[in-house]
Amino acid sequence: MKLNYKKEDVYSRLSEQEIESATKYTDEYINFINTAKTEYLCVEEAVKMLEENGFVEFSKKETLKAGDKVYFINREKSLFAAVIGSEDLSHGMNIIGAHIDSPRLDLKPFPLTERDNIAVLKTQYYGGIKKYQWLSIPLAMHGVIYNENGEKIVISVGEENDDTCFTIADLLPHLAREQLKANADKFINPEKMSVIVGNIKEKDVKENPVKSNILKILNQKYGIKEIDFARSEISLVPAFKAKYIGFDKALIGGYGQDDRVCSYATLKALIDTSSKIQRKTNIALIVDKEEIGSVGNTSMNSRVFDLFVEKLIQKSDTKNVTELEVYYNSKMLSADVTAGVNPDYEEVQDMQNASIIGSGVSVEKYGGSGGKYNSSDANARYVAEVMRIFDSNKVGYQVGTLGKVEMGGGGTIAYILANKGVEVVDCGTPVLAMHSTFEVTSKFDVYMTYMAYKAFFEN
Ligand code: MN
Ligand code: MN
Repeated sequence: MKLNYKKEDVYSRLSEQEIESATKYTDEYINFINTAKTEYLCVEEAVKMLEENGFVEFSKKETLKAGDKVYFINREKSLFAAVIGSEDLSHGMNIIGAHIDSPRLDLKPFPLTERDNIAVLKTQYYGGIKKYQWLSIPLAMHGVIYNENGEKIVISVGEENDDTCFTIADLLPHLAREQLKANADKFINPEKMSVIVGNIKEKDVKENPVKSNILKILNQKYGIKEIDFARSEISLVPAFKAKYIGFDKALIGGYGQDDRVCSYATLKALIDTSSKIQRKTNIALIVDKEEIGSVGNTSMNSRVFDLFVEKLIQKSDTKNVTELEVYYNSKMLSADVTAGVNPDYEEVQDMQNASIIGSGVSVEKYGGSGGKYNSSDANARYVAEVMRIFDSNKVGYQVGTLGKVEMGGGGTIAYILANKGVEVVDCGTPVLAMHSTFEVTSKFDVYMTYMAYKAFFEN
């Protein structure tokens, strides 16, 4: 009998065929993150995936029966999908929830200005970034503008190889002596993160001729005026593509893997388990605004999900159950990434309790920081249940914590559902360089994330 616990890597345990399935999965995943670089684009891609697999828009179904597949879009930026199970809702639902917003640079309401013959767009960062990582890299622009008539204009520039792109020019080291004396969290002034968009003067214009020329181009291309920026949501994200890393191609590098790696796995798991009627009603949540504290009507904290559950009850044949009773009997995996051990920075981890890259999807009983403040600390009985599901389905998983106590910390959406009474535990992919412009994951952890969510939905 083996008494001690030892972490095992996933790859060594996989058969040739499983390795092939993992590769097929991660090839598709890489395509997904190359396309879905904002929450708007994620929702669009999710709808495509769901509709191809027989899901219909929620309002199109008056009543719901076992096997029915529906999705609900909340203001273009978050999405709930459900597959109705054979048990009625009073027995609770199986929920997996991930987020589709990632750290990025947003444009200010009046972003366009000109200095020294260069037209720039002023930005404000979204989410927790190390600002220097966003300088001197190619940036792509994605977003929506609503004009004075309320018509939607979509902007997407910088993704194709022959497309133009944008950048923030960092200061040259030759003249950075003063700048580099400042603290690392101070040395990049967020007001100096202006994105270069042009350098040509409009003929016969005296004041701000470069800005004027850019406005002319924007008007020709999109029919917009300067005021229209005030009714837009436009973001800048890294323009480079996600790709495999390493001579053995065991890792994946790409922007926005927090938390689109878990979002994609959640959607795929829901779709792939929907061809058979499952016992529980399975719910996939991909929500917005996690990176800024889950606030606002597209975030998990919004009561729009309560509305969705209320409607689910009304449309099912279980009328005599309340929303709160459904929550009380529901179970959830909070699908969000965690920190994998970075070999250059082992000192921030308690190595005995850290998530190792390549050792599988990570289960985290609690997050938060210091004395577990603000963390959803999962119940031991529920952790045991989830571990049992993973063990019996040969899911490669590990149990971890997010760094040493008092080293920092982080949260997920787990507490929000836990506050409603749902049993929740965090379960997601370990990541290196989280929140950077090129986050790193293990191909096998990515695949095991999907396998874990699939096993959970089949339970
Ligand atoms: Mn996250
Ligand atoms: Mn994050």
